[in-house]
Amino acid sequence: MAEVLVYVDHVDGAVRKPTLELLTLARRLGEPVAVALGAGAGGTAGVLAEHGAVRVLTAEASEFADYLVVPKVDALQAAFEAVSPVAVLLPSSAEAKEVAARLAVRVGSGIITDAVDVEAGDEGVVATQSVFAASYTTKSRVSRGVPVITVKPNSAPVEPAAAAGAVEALAVVFSELATGTKVVSRTPRESTGRPELTEAAIVVSGGRGVNGAENFAVIEALADSLGAAVGASRAAVDAGWYPHTNQVGQTGKSVSPQLYIASGISGAIQHRAGMQTSKTIVAINKDAEAPIFDLVDYGVVGDLFNVVPQLTGEITARKG
Ligand SMILES: Cc1cc2nc3c(=O)[nH]c(=O)nc-3n(C[C@H](O)[C@H](O)[C@H](O)COP(=O)(O)OP(=O)(O)OC[C@H]3O[C@@H](n4cnc5c(N)ncnc54)[C@H](O)[C@@H]3O)c2cc1C
Repeated sequence: MAEVLVYVDHVDGAVRKPTLELLTLARRLGEPVAVALGAGAGGTAGVLAEHGAVRVLTAEASEFADYLVVPKVDALQAAFEAVSPVAVLLPSSAEAKEVAARLAVRVGSGIITDAVDVEAGDEGVVATQSVFAASYTTKSRVSRGVPVITVKPNSAPVEPAAAAGAVEALAVVFSELATGTKVVSRTPRESTGRPELTEAAIVVSGGRGVNGAENFAVIEALADSLGAAVGASRAAVDAGWYPHTNQVGQTGKSVSPQLYIASGISGAIQHRAGMQTSKTIVAINKDAEAPIFDLVDYGVVGDLFNVVPQLTGEITARKG
């Protein structure tokens, strides 16, 4: 059966959810062969096998951490040449997109980024993208080579499907380019203790209506009462009230949680592009005419500084 390469995103062996989503999609195209690189790669095999990986190719060389992406491209290319896959799937993270682009150039393939679905078509793998701020859904396939496709988080369910997950050491010879850019220091971002935005089941976002960095405490308190991640509109981020990494939207992150609560956000099309596939959407806005209300399952017309603390208090009380 045809094999599909899946590039594994993991932290010290802990596989991140978008990779498990890729395995769901890969199984539609053929037998998933996972490629796990860096420290802890061997530790990924168990969970990858539980989600359908027939083979797990691992390489743990220190080069993966010591240099920027080129060693990873070298390794993925080695896997590509060893496996001859029908498609290569990677998560749509900034780093994996760079790896994907470099691999596609090297192997002479077309690349499709930010897909939200993939399926086997008569003439090859077809990817679905949501484009122009989610105004259009397009289907495309590469016209040259083996498709290299990056897929947005939350595009497919995580489905357990036991497979062999046979671990094989991947032989990699690093190119001269691989050691061109050395990582000289790393500063871990301070952990908020909240879930990762793109993976969270609940996201609580604030916009220009929050009116100041210090007021984001109101949004954070609601998020913490629900065990949610915190998001922000571009207006709030550009004003310096919240970090860019928390921006939701066309030029920020795409989220698709079970519950999305927008406070003081008008619902511009560029914001909607990043959250409109959320399962249940709640908005709190003092303007009854705000466009966000066209999209919501539940809307509250009111001042967020009045509504949100009451909501937080009620949730906290019910958790008892
Ligand atoms: C190329 C491009 C890319 C973009 N990408 C993004 C993106 O990725 N993400 C994104 O978010 N935007 C993006 N934008 C910007 C987008 O067009 C909007 O400007 C932005 O989303 C507006 O943010 P906002 O809703 O917080 O602010 P506003 O549109 O100013 O809305 C603020 C809302 O808060 C309400 N409000 C005010 N005070 C209160 C209160 N006390 N209680 C309750 N409600 C209150 C107001 O009624 C209003 O509806 C992009 C724009 C462009 C051109």
